[in-house]
Amino acid sequence: MKILVTNDDGIYSPGLAALARVAAKFGEVVIVAPNVEQSSSGHSITATRPLSYKKSPIIFEGMEAYKVNGTPADCVALGTHLAEKVDLVLSGINMGPNLGNAIWHSGTLAAAKQATLLGIRGIAFSTPAKDAEPDFELLEPFVANALSLLLEDDGLRLVNVNLPYRPVGLKWTRQSVQFYDGQIVPGEDPMGRKHYWFTVKPLDPAEPGSDRWAVENGYVSLTPLRLDLTSDEDLERVLQKQPVPEVFTPAVPH
Ligand code: MN
Repeated sequence: MKILVTNDDGIYSPGLAALARVAAKFGEVVIVAPNVEQSSSGHSITATRPLSYKKSPIIFEGMEAYKVNGTPADCVALGTHLAEKVDLVLSGINMGPNLGNAIWHSGTLAAAKQATLLGIRGIAFSTPAKDAEPDFELLEPFVANALSLLLEDDGLRLVNVNLPYRPVGLKWTRQSVQFYDGQIVPGEDPMGRKHYWFTVKPLDPAEPGSDRWAVENGYVSLTPLRLDLTSDEDLERVLQKQPVPEVFTPAVPH
C-alpha cells in the first residue's frame, strides 16, 4: 500500500513525523507537506501562482519527503500526481483538535477531503496541544490502532480522528454542530497600529455521542464524514411544498 502523509502545520511539525512513523508500519510512505504552517487554511487551493516542491530539509527515517509552497489541499493534489498510485492519504497529526465546527476551517481535514475528491481514501488525525505538548510516543499506538480499524472497512472514504492527551479507548462519533462564539479581539502592534485576532469558542456543552464529547471524556473520536452537504430533509420538504416552475419568466419591472 502506498501512503501519502501530509499536514497543515508544515514539514517541521513533530506531529507529521509521528504520523509518518505509524504509516510506515502499514505501507510505503511518501511525505508531501506545506513548507510553512497552513493551519486554518481550510480547503483553499493555490490558483494564481505556480506550485513547486523541494526535497525536505528534515530526514524522516529514510522516507521520501518533500515540501510544497502551497496549502494542504495543494500538497495532496500535487503529491498524488507525482507519486503514482497512492492508495491512502493521512493528514496530521495536527497540533490542536479538529472537532465540531473546526472542521470548516481545518487545513488538516481539507487534505483528507482533497484525497476523497480525487477518489482516494483520506483520514485526518488531530490532538490537543494547548495545555501541554502532545506525547506522540504515547499516542502512536492509538493512531496505529485507529488506522487498522478504519482500514478494515473499505466503505469509509473520509474519516476525522481526534485523540485526547491520554486516550482510554476509542468511540465512533458524529460531528458536533453547534453555533459558536466567534469573537474579534482587537489589539495593537508595537508601532501603535490596530490589529485583530479572530477567535472561536463553542457556546454550548458537547452533545453525548459527538466528537467533542468523546475527546472531553478521554476517547479517541472516529467520525466518518461525507462530501455531500445537501440537506436531504430540506430538499424533500421544498420539493413537496414549493414546486418551482421549470420555465421561469422574470417579471418585467415597470
Ligand atoms: Mn494545524
